[in-house]
Amino acid sequence: MVRVRDLHKVFGRGHDAVHVLKGVDLDVARGSVTVVLGPSGSGKSTLLRCVNELEEITAGDIRVGGERMGYRTDAKGVVHRLHPRVVARQRSRIGMVFQRFHLFGHMTALQNVMEAPVQVRGLSKRAARTRAVELLDRVGLADRVDHYPAQLSGGQQQRVAIARALAMDPELMLFDEPTSALDPELVGEVLAVMQDLAASGMTMIVVTHEIGFAREVADHVVFMDDGVIVEEGAPADVLDHPAEPRLQEFLAHVL
Ligand code: ATP
Ligand code: MG
Repeated sequence: MVRVRDLHKVFGRGHDAVHVLKGVDLDVARGSVTVVLGPSGSGKSTLLRCVNELEEITAGDIRVGGERMGYRTDAKGVVHRLHPRVVARQRSRIGMVFQRFHLFGHMTALQNVMEAPVQVRGLSKRAARTRAVELLDRVGLADRVDHYPAQLSGGQQQRVAIARALAMDPELMLFDEPTSALDPELVGEVLAVMQDLAASGMTMIVVTHEIGFAREVADHVVFMDDGVIVEEGAPADVLDHPAEPRLQEFLAHVL
Protein backbone atom coordinates (compact mmCIF):
# COMPACT_ATOMS: atom_id res chain seq x y z
CA MET A 1 0.00 0.00 0.00
CA VAL A 2 2.82 2.40 0.89
CA ARG A 3 6.30 1.99 -0.51
CA VAL A 4 9.00 4.52 0.32
CA ARG A 5 12.42 4.20 -1.29
CA ASP A 6 15.60 6.09 -0.48
CA LEU A 7 13.65 9.12 0.68
CA HIS A 8 15.71 12.23 1.37
CA LYS A 9 14.49 15.56 2.66
CA VAL A 10 16.71 18.60 2.94
CA PHE A 11 15.32 21.83 4.36
CA GLY A 12 17.02 25.06 3.26
CA ARG A 13 20.01 25.53 0.99
CA GLY A 14 23.76 25.96 1.09
CA HIS A 15 25.17 26.61 4.54
CA ASP A 16 21.68 26.56 6.05
CA ALA A 17 20.75 23.18 4.58
CA VAL A 18 19.48 20.62 7.09
CA HIS A 19 19.44 17.01 5.92
CA VAL A 20 16.47 15.64 7.85
CA LEU A 21 15.63 12.37 6.07
CA LYS A 22 18.71 10.50 4.93
CA GLY A 23 17.49 7.56 2.89
CA VAL A 24 14.32 6.12 4.38
CA ASP A 25 12.90 2.85 3.03
CA LEU A 26 9.51 1.78 4.32
CA ASP A 27 6.85 -0.71 3.26
CA VAL A 28 3.36 -0.67 4.72
CA ALA A 29 1.03 -3.50 3.73
CA ARG A 30 -2.60 -2.77 2.96
CA GLY A 31 -4.73 -3.08 6.07
CA SER A 32 -1.75 -3.01 8.41
CA VAL A 33 -0.75 -0.66 11.20
CA THR A 34 2.79 0.69 11.38
CA VAL A 35 3.89 2.55 14.49
CA VAL A 36 6.82 4.93 14.14
CA LEU A 37 8.93 5.62 17.22
CA GLY A 38 11.93 7.84 17.64
CA PRO A 39 13.41 10.71 19.60
CA SER A 40 12.46 14.32 19.01
CA GLY A 41 13.97 15.64 15.80
CA SER A 42 14.55 12.21 14.26
CA GLY A 43 12.33 13.04 11.28
CA LYS A 44 9.06 11.25 12.11
CA SER A 45 6.75 14.17 11.29
CA THR A 46 8.76 15.02 8.20
CA LEU A 47 8.34 11.44 6.98
CA LEU A 48 4.55 11.62 7.38
CA ARG A 49 4.44 15.07 5.80
CA CYS A 50 6.38 13.77 2.79
CA VAL A 51 4.00 10.80 2.38
CA ASN A 52 1.08 13.23 2.47
CA GLU A 53 2.83 15.66 0.10
CA LEU A 54 2.81 18.46 2.64
CA GLU A 55 6.54 18.65 1.93
CA GLU A 56 8.29 18.41 -1.41
CA ILE A 57 10.77 15.57 -1.24
CA THR A 58 14.42 16.15 -2.11
CA ALA A 59 15.12 12.69 -3.53
CA GLY A 60 13.63 9.22 -3.57
CA ASP A 61 10.27 7.83 -4.37
CA ILE A 62 6.98 7.41 -2.50
CA ARG A 63 4.18 5.22 -3.79
CA VAL A 64 0.73 4.93 -2.29
CA GLY A 65 -1.49 2.22 -3.75
CA GLY A 66 1.07 1.78 -6.55
CA GLU A 67 0.88 5.41 -7.65
CA ARG A 68 3.97 7.57 -7.42
CA MET A 69 3.28 10.62 -5.28
CA GLY A 70 4.02 14.08 -6.61
CA TYR A 71 6.33 13.25 -9.52
CA ARG A 72 6.66 11.44 -12.80
CA THR A 73 9.71 10.50 -14.82
CA ASP A 74 9.53 11.13 -18.58
CA ALA A 75 10.99 8.96 -21.37
CA LYS A 76 14.34 10.77 -21.09
CA GLY A 77 14.55 10.06 -17.38
CA VAL A 78 13.80 13.64 -16.39
CA VAL A 79 11.69 13.97 -13.24
CA HIS A 80 8.70 16.33 -13.33
CA ARG A 81 6.48 17.60 -10.57
CA LEU A 82 2.85 16.62 -11.13
CA HIS A 83 0.21 19.27 -11.70
CA PRO A 84 -1.18 20.69 -8.44
CA ARG A 85 -4.60 19.30 -9.36
CA VAL A 86 -3.16 15.79 -9.56
CA VAL A 87 -1.28 16.29 -6.30
CA ALA A 88 -4.51 17.45 -4.68
CA ARG A 89 -6.29 14.31 -5.88
CA GLN A 90 -3.47 12.13 -4.54
CA ARG A 91 -3.57 13.94 -1.22
CA SER A 92 -7.32 13.49 -0.90
CA ARG A 93 -6.76 9.71 -0.66
CA ILE A 94 -4.78 10.18 2.53
CA GLY A 95 -6.24 11.27 5.86
CA MET A 96 -4.03 12.97 8.40
CA VAL A 97 -4.54 13.62 12.10
CA PHE A 98 -2.18 15.96 13.92
CA GLN A 99 -1.20 16.50 17.51
CA ARG A 100 -3.26 19.71 17.50
CA PHE A 101 -6.71 19.10 16.17
CA HIS A 102 -6.96 22.04 13.74
CA LEU A 103 -10.76 22.01 13.77
CA PHE A 104 -12.64 25.00 12.39
CA GLY A 105 -13.61 26.85 15.55
CA HIS A 106 -16.67 28.55 14.07
CA MET A 107 -18.19 25.27 12.90
CA THR A 108 -19.94 22.55 14.86
CA ALA A 109 -18.57 19.02 14.99
CA LEU A 110 -21.03 18.07 12.24
CA GLN A 111 -20.07 21.01 10.04
CA ASN A 112 -16.37 20.24 10.51
CA VAL A 113 -16.90 16.67 9.28
CA MET A 114 -19.15 17.74 6.37
CA GLU A 115 -16.88 20.51 5.12
CA ALA A 116 -14.40 18.68 2.89
CA PRO A 117 -16.86 16.24 1.28
CA VAL A 118 -19.09 19.19 0.31
CA GLN A 119 -16.36 21.68 -0.69
CA VAL A 120 -13.82 19.30 -2.25
CA ARG A 121 -15.90 16.36 -3.43
CA GLY A 122 -19.04 18.30 -4.29
CA LEU A 123 -21.18 15.93 -2.24
CA SER A 124 -24.71 17.18 -1.54
CA LYS A 125 -25.16 18.65 1.94
CA ARG A 126 -27.80 16.08 2.65
CA ALA A 127 -25.55 13.12 1.78
CA ALA A 128 -22.60 14.70 3.60
CA ARG A 129 -24.70 15.25 6.72
CA THR A 130 -25.90 11.64 6.80
CA ARG A 131 -22.34 10.38 6.45
CA ALA A 132 -21.00 12.85 9.03
CA VAL A 133 -23.58 11.73 11.59
CA GLU A 134 -22.56 8.12 10.94
CA LEU A 135 -18.88 8.92 11.39
CA LEU A 136 -19.43 10.95 14.57
CA ASP A 137 -21.43 8.04 15.92
CA ARG A 138 -18.57 5.72 15.03
CA VAL A 139 -16.12 7.80 17.10
CA GLY A 140 -18.58 7.89 20.00
CA LEU A 141 -19.84 11.45 19.54
CA ALA A 142 -23.44 10.92 18.43
CA ASP A 143 -24.57 13.23 21.24
CA ARG A 144 -22.07 15.99 20.39
CA VAL A 145 -22.77 16.69 16.72
CA ASP A 146 -23.98 20.26 17.30
CA HIS A 147 -21.22 21.24 19.72
CA TYR A 148 -18.51 23.70 18.74
CA PRO A 149 -14.86 22.71 19.30
CA ALA A 150 -14.59 25.04 22.31
CA GLN A 151 -17.43 23.07 23.93
CA LEU A 152 -15.61 19.75 23.52
CA SER A 153 -12.79 18.17 25.51
CA GLY A 154 -9.44 17.61 23.82
CA GLY A 155 -10.21 13.93 23.39
CA GLN A 156 -13.57 14.71 21.83
CA GLN A 157 -11.99 17.28 19.50
CA GLN A 158 -9.42 14.75 18.41
CA ARG A 159 -12.17 12.23 17.69
CA VAL A 160 -13.95 14.85 15.56
CA ALA A 161 -10.65 15.35 13.72
CA ILE A 162 -10.50 11.59 13.05
CA ALA A 163 -14.12 11.57 11.82
CA ARG A 164 -13.32 14.55 9.60
CA ALA A 165 -10.36 12.73 8.04
CA LEU A 166 -12.50 9.61 7.51
CA ALA A 167 -15.19 11.64 5.75
CA MET A 168 -12.99 11.76 2.64
CA ASP A 169 -12.88 7.93 2.54
CA PRO A 170 -9.09 7.76 2.72
CA GLU A 171 -7.17 4.65 1.73
CA LEU A 172 -4.47 5.52 4.21
CA MET A 173 -4.55 7.31 7.56
CA LEU A 174 -1.53 9.09 9.02
CA PHE A 175 -1.45 10.02 12.71
CA ASP A 176 1.22 12.35 14.07
CA GLU A 177 1.31 12.03 17.87
CA PRO A 178 -2.50 12.21 18.05
CA THR A 179 -2.60 11.87 21.83
CA SER A 180 0.44 13.78 23.00
CA ALA A 181 -1.42 17.09 23.48
CA LEU A 182 -4.15 15.42 25.56
CA ASP A 183 -4.57 15.18 29.30
CA PRO A 184 -3.68 11.64 30.35
CA GLU A 185 -7.26 10.67 31.17
CA LEU A 186 -8.35 11.49 27.59
CA VAL A 187 -5.69 9.47 25.79
CA GLY A 188 -7.51 6.14 26.07
CA GLU A 189 -10.69 7.23 24.27
CA VAL A 190 -8.69 8.40 21.24
CA LEU A 191 -6.53 5.27 21.17
CA ALA A 192 -9.71 3.15 21.38
CA VAL A 193 -11.12 4.87 18.27
CA MET A 194 -7.81 4.26 16.48
CA GLN A 195 -7.85 0.62 17.54
CA ASP A 196 -11.39 0.22 16.13
CA LEU A 197 -10.26 1.82 12.91
CA ALA A 198 -7.34 -0.59 12.70
CA ALA A 199 -9.68 -3.53 13.33
CA SER A 200 -11.88 -2.33 10.46
CA GLY A 201 -8.95 -2.85 8.12
CA MET A 202 -7.70 0.71 7.64
CA THR A 203 -4.07 1.08 6.60
CA MET A 204 -2.42 3.31 9.21
CA ILE A 205 0.94 4.88 9.97
CA VAL A 206 1.00 6.17 13.53
CA VAL A 207 3.72 8.26 15.13
CA THR A 208 3.25 7.82 18.86
CA HIS A 209 5.05 7.27 22.12
CA GLU A 210 2.21 5.07 23.36
CA ILE A 211 4.12 1.82 23.63
CA GLY A 212 1.02 -0.06 24.83
CA PHE A 213 -0.78 0.89 21.61
CA ALA A 214 2.24 -0.21 19.58
CA ARG A 215 2.36 -3.53 21.38
CA GLU A 216 -1.37 -4.26 21.03
CA VAL A 217 -2.33 -2.73 17.71
CA ALA A 218 0.75 -2.43 15.50
CA ASP A 219 1.67 -5.06 12.96
CA HIS A 220 5.01 -3.39 12.41
CA VAL A 221 7.12 -1.06 14.52
CA VAL A 222 9.74 1.27 13.09
CA PHE A 223 12.37 3.11 15.13
CA MET A 224 13.87 6.22 13.56
CA ASP A 225 16.91 8.11 14.69
CA ASP A 226 18.69 10.97 12.97
CA GLY A 227 16.78 10.67 9.69
CA VAL A 228 17.05 6.94 9.12
CA ILE A 229 15.21 3.81 10.20
CA VAL A 230 17.55 2.16 12.64
CA GLU A 231 15.48 -0.89 13.54
CA GLU A 232 12.09 -2.33 12.56
CA GLY A 233 10.05 -5.46 12.91
CA ALA A 234 7.19 -7.10 14.78
CA PRO A 235 6.25 -5.26 18.00
CA ALA A 236 7.29 -8.13 20.25
CA ASP A 237 10.75 -8.23 18.68
CA VAL A 238 11.39 -4.51 18.47
CA LEU A 239 9.90 -3.57 21.84
CA ASP A 240 10.97 -6.53 23.95
CA HIS A 241 14.23 -7.50 22.30
CA PRO A 242 15.68 -4.32 20.80
CA ALA A 243 19.02 -4.93 19.13
CA GLU A 244 20.16 -1.34 18.66
CA PRO A 245 21.62 0.46 21.68
CA ARG A 246 19.85 3.69 20.58
CA LEU A 247 16.50 1.91 20.65
CA GLN A 248 17.28 0.29 24.02
CA GLU A 249 18.03 3.72 25.42
CA PHE A 250 14.89 5.25 23.87
CA LEU A 251 12.65 2.53 25.30
CA ALA A 252 14.23 2.89 28.71
CA HIS A 253 13.11 6.53 28.65
CA VAL A 254 9.55 6.17 27.36
CA LEU A 255 8.53 3.05 29.27
P1 ATP B 1 9.22 15.42 17.40
O1 ATP B 1 9.22 14.10 18.15
O2 ATP B 1 9.77 16.52 18.25
O3 ATP B 1 7.90 15.75 16.80
P2 ATP B 1 10.16 14.59 14.78
O4 ATP B 1 10.84 13.27 14.79
O5 ATP B 1 8.76 14.63 14.31
O6 ATP B 1 10.31 15.25 16.22
P3 ATP B 1 10.63 16.46 12.65
O7 ATP B 1 9.57 17.41 13.03
O8 ATP B 1 10.40 15.59 11.45
O9 ATP B 1 11.06 15.53 13.88
O10 ATP B 1 11.95 17.30 12.46
C1 ATP B 1 13.18 16.71 12.12
C2 ATP B 1 14.21 17.80 11.94
O11 ATP B 1 13.85 18.59 10.83
C3 ATP B 1 14.34 18.73 13.12
O12 ATP B 1 15.71 18.99 13.32
C4 ATP B 1 13.62 19.97 12.66
O13 ATP B 1 14.17 21.11 13.25
C5 ATP B 1 13.86 19.95 11.17
N1 ATP B 1 12.78 20.61 10.43
C6 ATP B 1 11.48 20.22 10.38
N2 ATP B 1 10.76 21.04 9.60
C7 ATP B 1 11.61 21.99 9.15
C8 ATP B 1 11.48 23.13 8.30
N3 ATP B 1 10.30 23.44 7.73
N4 ATP B 1 12.58 23.86 8.07
C9 ATP B 1 13.77 23.53 8.61
N5 ATP B 1 13.97 22.48 9.42
C10 ATP B 1 12.91 21.71 9.68
MG1 MG C 1 6.98 15.31 15.16
